[in-house]
Amino acid sequence: MTGPSVLREAPPGASFRGWLDRLAGRGRLAIAKKGISLEFELAAIGKRLEGEKAVFFPRPGGHGIAVVAGLLGERLWIAEAMGVAEEKILERFAVALKNPLPWREIPSAPVQEVVFEKVDLGRLLPIPTHNELDSGPYISAGVLVARNPESGVQNLAIHRCQVNGPDELALLLLPRHTLHFYEAAERAGEALDIAIVIGVDPLTALASQAIAPLDLDELAIAGALHGAPVEVVACLGNPLRVPAHAEIVLEGRLLPKKRSLEGPFGEFPQYYSERRERHLAKIDRVTLRRDALYHTILGGGREHLLLGAIPREASLLGDLRRHFPGVIDVHLPMGGAGRFVLYVKLEKRREGEGKNVILAAFAAHPDLKEVVVVDEDVDIHRPAEVEWALATRFQADRDLLLIEGAQGSRLDPSAKEGVGAKMGLDATRPLDAPPLRYKRIRVPGEEKVDLDAVLDSSAGGDWRRARGRGLS
Ligand code: MN
Repeated sequence: MTGPSVLREAPPGASFRGWLDRLAGRGRLAIAKKGISLEFELAAIGKRLEGEKAVFFPRPGGHGIAVVAGLLGERLWIAEAMGVAEEKILERFAVALKNPLPWREIPSAPVQEVVFEKVDLGRLLPIPTHNELDSGPYISAGVLVARNPESGVQNLAIHRCQVNGPDELALLLLPRHTLHFYEAAERAGEALDIAIVIGVDPLTALASQAIAPLDLDELAIAGALHGAPVEVVACLGNPLRVPAHAEIVLEGRLLPKKRSLEGPFGEFPQYYSERRERHLAKIDRVTLRRDALYHTILGGGREHLLLGAIPREASLLGDLRRHFPGVIDVHLPMGGAGRFVLYVKLEKRREGEGKNVILAAFAAHPDLKEVVVVDEDVDIHRPAEVEWALATRFQADRDLLLIEGAQGSRLDPSAKEGVGAKMGLDATRPLDAPPLRYKRIRVPGEEKVDLDAVLDSSAGGDWRRARGRGLS
């Protein structure tokens, strides 16, 4: 994969407000009436319009801070935010993963224009409640910054945050980098400093979801996507550096040996995560822009799914290609919640390779539970095409791979504490098949038809007038 690690011009998604302007300019930003309720009503409107329009909510629930939802509701929008064509998203992301660009510190920043030392989250911020059985208001688009106590390198991740009290949040920490740092701090009996950043630019939000190795700072991936270092500022009460042009920062600590009940919360698989003892954060300070905006992500909505899927696709594509150069593309379809089902497009070179690709994919990410491998003539971005390949090129006694009792996602309700089966389906043609057997039918010239040239637009559907004289 080649490509410049530094772009000449900042892509549209490099700025939160710039992206809002861009959406507005393209007729993709709806403005709601003032005073929409933060409980369900805001989410309901966002959900109705997701993928079509982002929504700006002025004075939601009477609050002075406006809320925005649905900023990255379409795959095409993510491509635009990155400044690439849709089919180049994964390549661009992979280049950024390989060429991280470290942040640059500036002495003062818009995100610290206003400082609240006395924290009452419920009053300070317009925090919506999204899904029917959610336990209450959640901060769902907060990018959590923490630092590896061993290396000092920062990490970005989005964790759902239940508002527990005026200055308390209960967080879900899955076994990834933030939890690793927390456990090291907890063993030492110490709290882990955190900053939760709300209203980051779309590219930083995307970078925060990268499947990156420990100590690869996601802000440096964001820098590579920006084509310039992300400007950061030091937090006022801890050594963390946060994006200087974000809207809102919560400075706080994850407390050792403290747990709190969290959930239920509507998650990406379209189910609720159950109520359980989870980690607890104390928020010491809130800093924000004078005219701050609040970003929310609807739990289980398109933006949530796409933000998870695209960085995963980029990582999986890189992993698979390292061993199988015939892998052309991968896709995590929405029907698999953007996590559980993977489609792989393979130019098969050796018989059996489809199954090796399946095994490699399952090794690459534990969340995958179904992998379908298809040939190069199948459009993996259209699930009906993949179904067609399965219907016509797959035989279960020969092409099905089943692995029992492996690690899966804890959020898959059909798995037992995250342990479940893996299913691989090799829907590639046999290499020795006779040439006509799997030759896809096509009408010559279909794609070249110029409809303006061949259709009579003046006929107005009047077939009686348009017909010829017939046989007489
Ligand atoms: Mn990380």
